[in-house]
Amino acid sequence: MPDAAPITLADLAGMGVEKLSGVGPKKVEGLHKLGIDSMLDLLSHYPRRYLDRTNQAKVRDLRPGEEGMVLATVRSLSTRRVKGGRAMVTGEIADDTGRLKISFFNQAWRERQLPAGTEAIFYGKVEDFRGTRQMTNPVVDLIGNRTGRIIPVYPQSEKSGLSTWDLGDMCAQVLRRCEARGIAEPLPGEVRDRFALVDRRTALTGIHAPESMAKSQAARKRLVFDELLRIQLALVLRKRHIEATSQGIVHESAIDLMSAYWSRLAFPLTGAQQRVIGEIVADLARPIPMHRLLQGDVGAGKTVVAVSALLAAVHGGHQGALMAPTEVLAEQHAIGLRRDLAGFVVPAEEGSLFAERELRIALLTNRVTGAERRQILAELADGAIDLVVGTHALIQDAVRFHSLGVVVIDEQHRFGVEQRAALRASNADGTSPDVLVMTATPIPRTAAMTVYGDLDVSVLDELPPGRTPIATQWARSYDEVESAWALVRSEIADGRQAYVVCPLIEESVKLEVSSATETFEDLSGGELHGLRLGLLHGRMASAEKDAVMTSFRSGDIDVLVATTVIEVGVDVPNATVMVVLDADRFGIAQLHQLRGRVGRGAHRSHCVLVADEPTPDGEERLEAMVRTTDGFELAEVDLELRGEGTIMGERQKGQNDLRLASLRRDRDWVTRAREVAFELVDGPGGLRHLPVLRGELALFMSDEDEEFLLKG
Ligand code: ADP
Ligand code: MG
Repeated sequence: MPDAAPITLADLAGMGVEKLSGVGPKKVEGLHKLGIDSMLDLLSHYPRRYLDRTNQAKVRDLRPGEEGMVLATVRSLSTRRVKGGRAMVTGEIADDTGRLKISFFNQAWRERQLPAGTEAIFYGKVEDFRGTRQMTNPVVDLIGNRTGRIIPVYPQSEKSGLSTWDLGDMCAQVLRRCEARGIAEPLPGEVRDRFALVDRRTALTGIHAPESMAKSQAARKRLVFDELLRIQLALVLRKRHIEATSQGIVHESAIDLMSAYWSRLAFPLTGAQQRVIGEIVADLARPIPMHRLLQGDVGAGKTVVAVSALLAAVHGGHQGALMAPTEVLAEQHAIGLRRDLAGFVVPAEEGSLFAERELRIALLTNRVTGAERRQILAELADGAIDLVVGTHALIQDAVRFHSLGVVVIDEQHRFGVEQRAALRASNADGTSPDVLVMTATPIPRTAAMTVYGDLDVSVLDELPPGRTPIATQWARSYDEVESAWALVRSEIADGRQAYVVCPLIEESVKLEVSSATETFEDLSGGELHGLRLGLLHGRMASAEKDAVMTSFRSGDIDVLVATTVIEVGVDVPNATVMVVLDADRFGIAQLHQLRGRVGRGAHRSHCVLVADEPTPDGEERLEAMVRTTDGFELAEVDLELRGEGTIMGERQKGQNDLRLASLRRDRDWVTRAREVAFELVDGPGGLRHLPVLRGELALFMSDEDEEFLLKG
């Protein structure tokens, strides 16, 4: 029998849900609405919780202030209109031990959903409302007349018209149909044993139809591992593929050139800078191209590391490229490099008349046009330019290098496409440059392993000494905001400068610009009257932006009123105050970036976050910002508040999402999955001996990654 082999996930993915018996067109349509098209989709639609009838909370046991879940019957429910015409649905539910009030805001449809007599699960925070207990906006799961000890409760939606009961039944049906052939096991037995993981069939049964809560937990553990392992395998395969198919440049030690540079600096390197430069130098000496991510908080001193790496390229007669995310930043880097490397000489090419010549630095952005651009392109191609600083204009097709040795991408947090392009770049002789990507948005270790798992990671975890920490306040009352402006005025009276960051309006750049302009006018005529104010926003012409930045840098402007365009890399050490308006609209990473614009000099700096009525999440973000300036600590809070979805963002598009696994809760499993992924990929024969696993990877990987798998 051709079909006798155990059923794989690919088999399940190939079977549409319309093949289920007892499932008519209407239910199929409901499933499609939930994004469930195949039997695999169905089995990957996991319960969000379980109702354990053997150990079920009673209404009597619900404690105010705690989350609770009860199975109860609706006694009554009615709707009234409140302020603004919104619906307020209130009612009472009960079981055999007591009664509980429930209320829903703005959910008029609840009255239809929950006629008196309906039995349902109610899940939510229990509050004490004038002596009676109540749940506001609880999560409601209709369970119909389902019996059994442990009831899986599936995420449902009004629009699908499917009950948790329907979904449970369908999953049970799929699992029953798989019984004859069995479900294929992708993991080697040794790995399962090592981590005490149940097999795939047990896991799928245990998650959808557990006999006990312990079984559902064992099932979750296994499926979490599977999810994380797939991601790690994809990353490790990609890493190994790139290593195997690209030829790097072996950079000889450039210690003389580097030392000359370091001795130019007004400060000794921090221990962390020395360590990271050491890691990079070791990478550069290998024949495999470096693909390294440097995580370092704002102000940690990444530029010195970047320039040191670039000098290694120059030393061997190759070129170095430093890519910045904005024109302003590229220009700033170019100014810094020209200052710090002025008069440096490089060995001339063999056969040349001169033994050495002066190191040449060029700036290439989209602003450089015409004859000047043509000349730079020509000199990059013939090798006359040693170091080039620019925006992503650098990696456009028209740009040819004579021999690109090292690329540094100062990505801040806009990491992604450019980095990939740079990884693929290669020289005419087939060699690929070493690539260092720098990010100022620290992310927790396990998240880094997941999001940047195809790169090696260095961490600059020490700030240069002598920084006075930035004092951060949260201004919520009128008086507090008043004193923020007083602070700005007094700092300026002392010769310092200030930033005012205008509210973020994500929906519209146009609105954001007009609000910035308004803020600028309000402040000029009001709180900051008499000071020299400048305005900077994304809709201004480049030349205009430049002029404003130059005046601010040279101290001709006291207060820069700006949108988030200043978030990235702007370095004006004399600026010591930042006021962020409507600070609760910004994410933690963004606030952290913004705040990093002050505290860059010797003077004590301040950051005032203005927010009068933040959301609860906004409140937590602001509290965290006030509590700490440590980027890694803030990153943990961010992960906690936002979940992994946003962190995974761009990088994981097209790959399987984390459905069960959590980068916070399952930290240890991320590390284990990564170890196993390396073991399996690097072991004898690689994944060749694991056809089921390979098949699954192909199913979940993006097309681009699949290529690596097939070649690997
Ligand atoms: P970032 O990591 O944010 O890019 P920068 O490279 O811009 O940080 O450095 C921030 C500031 O700290 C710069 O003014 C730089 O000159 C200074 N700096 C860098 N390294 C050191 C050090 N080891 N000691 C003192 N100051 C340093
Ligand atoms: Mg920087």
